[in-house]
Amino acid sequence: MNDLVKKLFENKTLSNEEFLTILADNKYDEDLKKAANIRREEYYGKDVYIRGLIEFSNYCKNNCFYCGIRAGNNKASRYRLNTDDILNCCREGYKLGFRTFVLQGGEDPYFTDDIFIEIIAKIRSKFPDCAITLSLGERNYKSFKNFFDAGTNRYLLRHETANEYHFNKIHPNNLSLENRKKCIFQLKEIGYQVGSGFMVGSPFQKLEYLVEDLRFLETLQPDMIGIGPFLSHKDTPFKNFENGSMGLTIKLISILRLMFPYSLIPSTTALGTIHPEGRELGLKAGANVVMPNLSPSNVRNKYELYDNKIYSGSEAAESIELLTRLIKKSGFNISVNRGDVKRTTI
Ligand code: SAM
Repeated sequence: MNDLVKKLFENKTLSNEEFLTILADNKYDEDLKKAANIRREEYYGKDVYIRGLIEFSNYCKNNCFYCGIRAGNNKASRYRLNTDDILNCCREGYKLGFRTFVLQGGEDPYFTDDIFIEIIAKIRSKFPDCAITLSLGERNYKSFKNFFDAGTNRYLLRHETANEYHFNKIHPNNLSLENRKKCIFQLKEIGYQVGSGFMVGSPFQKLEYLVEDLRFLETLQPDMIGIGPFLSHKDTPFKNFENGSMGLTIKLISILRLMFPYSLIPSTTALGTIHPEGRELGLKAGANVVMPNLSPSNVRNKYELYDNKIYSGSEAAESIELLTRLIKKSGFNISVNRGDVKRTTI
């Protein structure tokens, strides 16, 4: 094993210069992958956890420059699911073997705290053995606490970039890195299993900023880490920017596995979109979660964060058998338990 990779394997961290060296040169990639697999195996064996992703609304009050469902995109065809629609998705997912439901959506003001609390409480009472994950963006402490008390277990809120200049280049000025971080730490304090993460190759990103992302995650010690390549959307201000790199995303998955051996790392839809085998490659590099789409089929193409987002084939929850076969072929097994974070080795 290369010396730098060995150092990361043993110490779970490197100096900034060492991280930059690894990020800039693909000669480390194979060793990183091998080392990441050793660590993953120690904590999670060959298990891959499945999460049923319910994209409940593509209305959003925000205007993130990269995102296809930004408020300013008047070409987006908007939808929102009601409580019964969401419960039906859960019912369907439960039958298919899902024991985690992820409710993700734009920051849609229609969904007041009371509406969410009712949805969460209903899912909790009808599916007591399932984990509920929310991914609704920024809210205040009281809302986060209410959702937790109603029965939510986990919350995903990516920091997107830990460099303040970069954060402000890709977000409008009503959003701030300071508030994003504040929300993420509040979630942790309340007791959620917390997920954060970033886009790889977003416009204006530098390798130095990626090192800052790694440092931020070191401070947070998140339970879940979601990263994926930036992919452009034709109706956003970033339509002419290049997509992020699959190779760099995969390398970062391995680095994250070595830094946070206990963490749950999804092989994301964006990775599956950029390359037909992207998701499998992500798993082979250290990821251990997949999140097939459980939204009603008539809205799936409307939750278009970036161009050509995949939502059929093994990306569709109902094709769980196909996904199971693909995952087996990659050398892993789908685990149908809740898949909570494991802070100790097996
Ligand atoms: N509104 C919630 C939030 O902001 O956390 C959840 C929905 S948001 C659309 C989910 C994630 O999609 C973001 O954290 C962002 O990283 C990712 N995303 C949005 N646009 C993207 C793009 N063009 N390429 C890749 N990922 C994108």
